[in-house]
Amino acid sequence: MTQKILVLPGDGIGPEITAQASRILAACQARGLDVEVEEGLLGGAAYDAHGEPLPVETLEKAQAARAILLGAVGGPEWDRLEDLTKRPEKGLLGVRKQLGLFGNLRPAITYPQLAAASSLKPELVAGLDIMIVRELTGGIYFGQPRGIEERNGERVGFNTYVYSESEIERIGRVAFEMARKRDKRLCSVDKANVLEATILWREVMERLAPEYPDVELSHMYVDNAAMQLVRAPKQFDVVVTGNMFGDILSDAAAMLTGSIGMLPSASLNESGQGMYEPCHGSAPDIAGQGIANPLATILSVAMMLRYSLDAPVLAERIEGAVGKVLDEGLRTADIAAEDTRTVSTAEMGDAVLAAFEAL
Ligand code: NAD
Repeated sequence: MTQKILVLPGDGIGPEITAQASRILAACQARGLDVEVEEGLLGGAAYDAHGEPLPVETLEKAQAARAILLGAVGGPEWDRLEDLTKRPEKGLLGVRKQLGLFGNLRPAITYPQLAAASSLKPELVAGLDIMIVRELTGGIYFGQPRGIEERNGERVGFNTYVYSESEIERIGRVAFEMARKRDKRLCSVDKANVLEATILWREVMERLAPEYPDVELSHMYVDNAAMQLVRAPKQFDVVVTGNMFGDILSDAAAMLTGSIGMLPSASLNESGQGMYEPCHGSAPDIAGQGIANPLATILSVAMMLRYSLDAPVLAERIEGAVGKVLDEGLRTADIAAEDTRTVSTAEMGDAVLAAFEAL
């Protein structure tokens, strides 16, 4: 059956990088991938056209799609909007919420060719390949009650860290399944020495473990996990954690790889419907210059093929093509080094496409 893909270029460099990723998607179609691709507006671009960051038309297209490829949203031109519900990020959060995208997959991979770009010593990060599975729709970012109120003559801010067993179980299953497909090691990160919500988190992970006897489950407190990530990151295979800890740890892990322009991500719901996007933002400082790195977005297409479209062979082909282009010494400005050749966004797209066809 033909599956629908929705491409949402978004703002800033979004249109430039999704244009290159769409070329790779078209090359996959030419090799038999049975998908129908359409485009939509999200974020600032949608606000400018329709007065809403998530127009009804885009939401309907998103609901009908098996997978969404997003560039990025946001930029200074919309930061001044006083009505916060009209801000570009609200469009992104709206899609996540409406589609119930609770499982955020954030790989942190260091390509050997780029190990020197990391802030850690190359030997600590060369060959790094971690998958952080972050719960995305629950936890303290959404818990009620929340607010700022007057108590005993002063203002008090408060939030609620809450997870139900079913929420923990469904993200746990995503992580165990992920570990199964990789090195079969899963580290669950919590703060069970202090927070009751994460005592429950640990209990549920333990309860699931016997169903996955081939996966080795371990637990780590989040403070230690932060330390271990910068001390010896290669000890991790799959990490599973709640929304807030995952937010912080996945950004730290991303920086270990040396370039945010290289990292894809996926957000999935229970039926495998997913949104795929680079980890970086809309980079307004370089938008329109044709110099943005399209590789994170191209690698997001590979994740889409693997996790929503069941086409792992094409996914590997894209990843192989990216590796080959890096081997050839081609780099966009953000990852350029002394002995490399700096290319534009489109030239990088050309090179990946050529490598994809040649493999
Ligand atoms: P950013 O990731 O957009 O940019 C940070 C730095 O990295 C900039 O110097 C930028 O030029 C560079 N950079 C990012 N991606 C690059 C790429 N592909 N190639 C080359 N260089 C790249 O983060 P920011 O500056 O904090 O945010 C800019 C805007 O993006 C804001 O409006 C923010 O809200 C938005 N944002 C959106 C998303 C998203 O859509 N998922 C995520 C983060 C930030």
